Amino acid sequence: RRDAMRATRDQPAVTPDGHRVGVFANVANARQAAEAVEAGAEGVGLMRTEFLFLERDTAPGEDEQYIVYRDTIAALAGRPLIIRTLDIGGDKQVSYLDLPKEENPFLGVRGARLLLARPELLHTQLRALYRAAAHGPLQIMFPMITDLAEVEMLRAECELVRKQLGAPAVPLGIMVEVPAVAVMADRFAKVVDFFSIGTNDLTQYVLAMDRQHPQLAAQADPLHPAVLALIGMTARAANAAGIHAGVCGGLAGDPLGARILTGLGVHELSMSAQDVAAVKTAIRAEPLSAMQALAERALAAGSAAEVRAL
Ligand code: PEP
Ligand code: MG
Repeated sequence: RRDAMRATRDQPAVTPDGHRVGVFANVANARQAAEAVEAGAEGVGLMRTEFLFLERDTAPGEDEQYIVYRDTIAALAGRPLIIRTLDIGGDKQVSYLDLPKEENPFLGVRGARLLLARPELLHTQLRALYRAAAHGPLQIMFPMITDLAEVEMLRAECELVRKQLGAPAVPLGIMVEVPAVAVMADRFAKVVDFFSIGTNDLTQYVLAMDRQHPQLAAQADPLHPAVLALIGMTARAANAAGIHAGVCGGLAGDPLGARILTGLGVHELSMSAQDVAAVKTAIRAEPLSAMQALAERALAAGSAAEVRAL
């Protein structure tokens, strides 16, 4: 029985009519990556590197970062790994970076905006990442992208570092978490290798509700039809361009959310390791056509509460 449970846990998530959905985990380090595999994840769809930079007095250097990335690749034994570059700003602050105080940090210099403003941070992280890429299937992802020009600058810096190191090419993707990128997903799909939709921030920016606001927690729901419409647009643009679109925000780990996302055309879901088993079960329970019908009804609903009631 134990073996049977283990086999089910490790099997891919396939709907009864044969549609496969990738189920990945969000992690912060190599230990969590090993736990994710143990929980049945097919790889890591989001490694948040912020944690490497928090609660310390100086930024981690190239070698220190390289070792963390290399060990995470090793823990995954050949499974795919998406590492996201530093996403500081907004809710996460770091004293040693001496960042100016902002009135609205969630609308300020965070994520890729900060990396482009602080080229030494970007350069060091990219060098560590490209060195680690020699050890396994690594993909690099940039957070808080808003404009095509940012992608162009980041790609150019990646290429520079790659050439300096004589490293292999690495797929380069972006988080879709600013509404502008979802609206223009057709254009972004032409210049990146993959999308990963961040429903936590996308929801906050679409609904104009602070993701940490205690009074708005119930309303700031990623199942809001306006958020789902943008996710659908993004998935359609990715599918038309032949690139992958995943979701790595909290909605991916919600069994109802996972079915709606699959119905909207998302092929990869990345979540906390503890949600992997329940999401696989949800995907296996229903044919794709039923999830597509559910997604249609969700898009036509008047509120997130109505979607939850479906
Ligand atoms: C998101 O915004 O949905 C996301 C996955 O990134 P984070 O929660 O780290 O901002
Ligand atoms: Mg985010």
